[in-house]
Amino acid sequence: MVGGGPAGVMLALLLARRGVRVTLLEAHKDFDREFRGNTVNPSVLEALARLGLAGKLLALSHTKVTSFVLQAGRRRETFADFSRMNTPYPYVLMLPQARFLEFVVAEAERYPNFRLATGARVRELVWKGDRVLGVRYRSEDGTHCEVRAGLTVGTDGRFSRLRKLAGLEADKVGGSPPMDVFWFNLPREESDPEEAGAVFRFGRGSLLVLMDHSEYWQAGYIIPKGHYARLKEEGLPALRRSVAEMAPELAGRVSALQDWGQGSLLSVESDCLRRWYVPGLLLLGDAAHVISPVGGVGINLAIQDALVAANVLARPLLEGEVRVRHLRSVQLRRRWAVRVIQAAQNLAQRHVVADALDKDEPFELSRFLRLLLRVPVLRDVPARLIAYGVWPARPKDEKRKSGGDAGAARAARWKRLGKERVL
Ligand SMILES: Cc1cc2nc3c(=O)[nH]c(=O)nc-3n(C[C@H](O)[C@H](O)[C@H](O)COP(=O)(O)OP(=O)(O)OC[C@H]3O[C@@H](n4cnc5c(N)ncnc54)[C@H](O)[C@@H]3O)c2cc1C
Repeated sequence: MVGGGPAGVMLALLLARRGVRVTLLEAHKDFDREFRGNTVNPSVLEALARLGLAGKLLALSHTKVTSFVLQAGRRRETFADFSRMNTPYPYVLMLPQARFLEFVVAEAERYPNFRLATGARVRELVWKGDRVLGVRYRSEDGTHCEVRAGLTVGTDGRFSRLRKLAGLEADKVGGSPPMDVFWFNLPREESDPEEAGAVFRFGRGSLLVLMDHSEYWQAGYIIPKGHYARLKEEGLPALRRSVAEMAPELAGRVSALQDWGQGSLLSVESDCLRRWYVPGLLLLGDAAHVISPVGGVGINLAIQDALVAANVLARPLLEGEVRVRHLRSVQLRRRWAVRVIQAAQNLAQRHVVADALDKDEPFELSRFLRLLLRVPVLRDVPARLIAYGVWPARPKDEKRKSGGDAGAARAARWKRLGKERVL
């Protein structure tokens, strides 16, 4: 696995549990990176519950978001209400992504057939004819290393090097997205409401997303595509004024934003590879499909890719017989589901975000949209899509007959026997 983001760590854990020998290469020295998605959606929690891990994850410090709210002026409309969903986890868990990745990696490390190399930046693919045999990387101390594998999986994110090295082509979804996002944090105060969730505030030609992270507010200031230079030219005081106008309760705190370096620009893109594989190599997560931040579903999709890939590939990997048809099968199961979500994001970007950014007067939600959000069957569609995607993916081998944690028991057994399964 090349890349220790949500897709890579989850696939590594799932395959390690199934007895596959896994090496995970991560370019960074640790998992601590700011301005990433920090959400864990109900379908991921349900999958973790099947692995016997949800309780342990929930023991980490977190907050819960039970609804996504759109606020234009005084009017508030619930856009996605997770509390109505029939699941033990009717919320989006807000947990720093670094803690989530560390948690999953710690679980994987319980298996002797799992190996993690951090500070390992992959530079080249090893080819034999048209088949990928592995990768070459530079280790933390500058040594050049090579890993050979029955299958190489590119989970190296939105700037995927493996995508380029393999020459895989992507289709843009719906042309260029109309927006970019400048992310920054603002301090939280004790008097702020508990578990305030995620609120999208519409201003005059501006849009702000505020997410409650219990210790701070994560703010996403949405700007028209390519307007970051203009935003900087207008200066921080103008940005602070605009934020304070949309979120008057934070007006006293916007002064915390003193330097552009405190934030991070996300250039929003949305694309999907036509083919997710070549013989010996499969791409998953953002490496296969760059996702817009609309709805906060990138992590969910990346993990669902991992779940499906583990279900399809564990057996052929154990048998040392991964064929192109297995890789095609992963793509067939996942690509359409990703494309449906991207199409829905595209609709929201064109008809809500672009409209909001285009107007100089306060944005009003259209009557049609407000009506849609009230019709009983339709109103639950956004929450379902965010929570599960088109179809929830589940780990295959974890239908635990005993109700115990089968994978952990297996790991302990291997340790006792000092046995390792090798491809
Ligand atoms: C600012 C921001 C906010 C976001 N907010 C949300 C949100 O709220 N909810 C949500 O669901 N999604 C959100 N997303 C999207 C989400 O983070 C991604 O969709 C998700 O992380 C994709 O997971 P991944 O495993 O495919 O890739 P990534 O998480 O990008 O992981 C890729 C990993 O590969 C490593 N890597 C890259 N190149 C190499 C190499 N050559 N060799 C070795 N390792 C390499 C990287 O260091 C990284 O750790 C956000 C994204 C950004 C940028």
